[in-house]
This record gives sequence, structure tokens and C-alpha cells, in this order.
Amino acid sequence: MRLKDKRAIVTGAGSGFGAGIARKFAAEGALVLLADINHEAAEAQAREIGGRAAHVDVSDGGSMARMVAEARAAMGEIDILVNNAGVTHMPAPMEEIEEAEFDRVFAVNCKSVYLAARAVVPLMKARGSGVILNIASTAAVSPRPNLNWYNASKGWMTTATRAMAIELAPHGIRVNAVNPVAGDTPLLASFMGEDTPERRAQFLATIPLGRFSTPEDIAGAACYLCSDEAGLVTGVCMEVDGGRCI
Ligand code: ADP
Repeated sequence: MRLKDKRAIVTGAGSGFGAGIARKFAAEGALVLLADINHEAAEAQAREIGGRAAHVDVSDGGSMARMVAEARAAMGEIDILVNNAGVTHMPAPMEEIEEAEFDRVFAVNCKSVYLAARAVVPLMKARGSGVILNIASTAAVSPRPNLNWYNASKGWMTTATRAMAIELAPHGIRVNAVNPVAGDTPLLASFMGEDTPERRAQFLATIPLGRFSTPEDIAGAACYLCSDEAGLVTGVCMEVDGGRCI
């Protein structure tokens, strides 16, 4: 029960890493609000783990404010916020990514972190404590060809993490990031260009521990960073990548 009675919001909790994080947090004793643009998916996950679902578009300020109000109404306060919702663009040469696609990636992956801070930081400052966790990517450290602007959006998240950590430390608020290597999900195809046995073997050869990430791998790191065990840890961008970024 490493998160006993902690009140947490996890965005993008309808699937993948976010669902894994929500499940782990609930198992460790936290109350969890699972927020996703795909409300049905969030509700299905929430039912399984005994959490509560909320609809949110993390790229919309009004929607984020409503999500935080809903979280407070349901749970009282917010101890932990996990900014996990994210999108990629189709792999393509950088000059071919359409402007609207670029805007979408930066709105969901980056602007969301700013909007979340606008909604949650005043509450955490008032209480003198809180934990924010941003789910970035190994793409921030080791960019993949043709995922150019996605790589850059994740780099933005890691710089934002450190900027938030230094500014919010005097208020008792810790801010960290996890950089997952790709999981074996439909997204994998966009990391590899196409999903063929050869591409998989090539990709796996870049991961010293020899396997893709699972939601449980990411949830384990997230749980540690959001727990009191990590009370002196802030501004860290932790690779969970089987050694890929060494
Ligand atoms: P990952 O492998 O990174 O977990 P997924 O695509 O499985 O990727 O999960 C991303 C989650 O983020 C999905 O549940 C998706 O519905 C959610 N999501 C995407 N865009 C938004 C958004 N604008 N607002 C809220 N949630 C979003």
C-alpha cells in the first residue's frame, strides 16, 4: 500500500500505459480518477479497478479545469497528477508533416502539461505539497527517424519537467518524468515504420535487455516516483527502456 489514501488523476487512462498506471495506483491504495478523451475506455478501466472515470480533452483548458473540479468534488483534494495522455503522428520525413498534425501533437503532448499546471498547481501550492509525473518517451533522449516532431514534443516534456521541478520545489511539489521505450502496442508500428518481423528484430536489437516495455514496467516506475519513497526525488526523467538510452 505504497499510495494509501493518495488521490490521483491519471490522464489517458483508458488504455496502454495510463491504464497500467491507474491499475497499479489503485492496487497500492490510491483513489484514482481515470480521465480520457475516450470516455467508454476510461469507464471500462475504472469499473475493473474500482476507480472513477472522467471525460477530458487534455488539449482544452476548459475541459482540464472541469476535470480537476470533478476530481475535487469526488476525492476532496489532488495529491498526484499523471500527465500521460499523448499522441504520435504518422511517421514521415519532417518537412512532410502537415501543420495541423504538428499542432495536434504539440497540443496533446505539450500544451496539456501547461494546462494541467494552470489547473492543479494553485491547489498544490495552497496545500504545500503535491506530485506531478509526466510520461514522456525515450524519443526525448534518442530520437527515431521520421518521428521528428513527436520526438521534439517529448523533449519539450522533459525540459518542462525540470523547469517545473525547480520552480515548484519551494512549494513542496515534486515533478518527475518517465521515459518509456516503446511497448508492444499498435503504436509500435509507428515507431518502427512498419510492423514486420525484421523491423521488430532490428528494434529489439537496440534494447539491451531485449524486450519491449509493458504497462506494468511503466506503472512500477510511476508508483515509485509518486510515492513518499521518492520524497527527495524531483526533476528526474527516468528511462524505463531496457538500457536503450545508455
Ligand atoms: P500509450 O502506449 O502511450 O499508452 P495509447 O494510445 O494506448 O498510448 O494511450 C493514450 C491514451 O491517451 C488513449 O487512451 C487516448 O484515448 C488518450 N488520449 C489521446 N488524446 C487525448 C486527449 N486529447 N485528451 C485525453 N486523452 C487523450
